[in-house]
Amino acid sequence: MRRIATEEAFVIPEVIQPMLERFARAPYDPDLFFWSKAADGSPLQRRLLDLGDERLAIMDETGIDVQLISLASTGVQMFDADTGTALATLANDVLADAMRRHPTRFAGLASFAPQDPKRAAKEIERAMTQLGYHGVIVNSHTNGDYLDQSAYWPILEACEACDAPLYIHPRAPSPQMVAPFLDYTLEHAIWGFQAETSLHALRLIVSGIFDRFPRLKVILGHGGEGLHYWLPRLDGMHANFKAPEGRRPVLELAPSAYIRRNFAITTSGMNWGPAVRFAIDAIGVDKIMFAIDYPFMDSATSVAQMDAIDLPEDDKAAIYHRNAERIFGISPAA
Ligand code: MN
Repeated sequence: MRRIATEEAFVIPEVIQPMLERFARAPYDPDLFFWSKAADGSPLQRRLLDLGDERLAIMDETGIDVQLISLASTGVQMFDADTGTALATLANDVLADAMRRHPTRFAGLASFAPQDPKRAAKEIERAMTQLGYHGVIVNSHTNGDYLDQSAYWPILEACEACDAPLYIHPRAPSPQMVAPFLDYTLEHAIWGFQAETSLHALRLIVSGIFDRFPRLKVILGHGGEGLHYWLPRLDGMHANFKAPEGRRPVLELAPSAYIRRNFAITTSGMNWGPAVRFAIDAIGVDKIMFAIDYPFMDSATSVAQMDAIDLPEDDKAAIYHRNAERIFGISPAA
């Protein structure tokens, strides 16, 4: 069985070092705390920096044919606009070089700096048309802003124009919503990532983004961040609770219709039978792609979990590789 893993991470020294330096001197910040997990000398940092032998060896050992690789969260989004823009270009060049060296093993999602939406749109275009990328990635909010806000529309316009799937990857909740998470360290992958990222996706839906950009494709990890669990309730409550006049656009479709038309999900960190079977029931097997979240999650465990889910062979093939080949334009095996 060919396996494509679709939410796999790397970093470059130019991004991780300033983050670790800021962590060492700044007051507690949930996103910097997350970076500190990849401290100097840690196996995690070594694996994130590697785009060669160790990554390929682990892929070989665990039966992963292709990794769809992206810059680890929070990417370039905690830098000022000029630095973030320059680092996105650098990271995209580094990963593109690795993709050229290992064209049958590495695919990529390009980074961009939402802090400068016009230059972000240009970088998306460069990555998709010149560097051979398969989509782009954003780590949810940027300085508390969300992509439905009109300043960021050039980014969504570029994604649609370049047919670049937009992977909305988690980070800790925005400054406006993080406080109640902090008392018990819930701001990370235990709950905060999902709360932040599903909110971001829902904002795109109810703001009318998919009426404006009907061909925009959005990918959510971690079992779709739970959003598809709520389809009938989203539709019912969206219809029941009208916003004050002019506050919220009238949508062409029900919220669930955009999730079915414009979204796909991955199983990063959530290769759990009940969740995968429910997702197949709710949104269909052609919307679900396998992911590990290497090197944060263990590759062998993730593959064993997905292998153990009792599904028809054809469904397994869709989840393991066929959907990723179609959605991200990854070449099928020769
Ligand atoms: Mn991840």
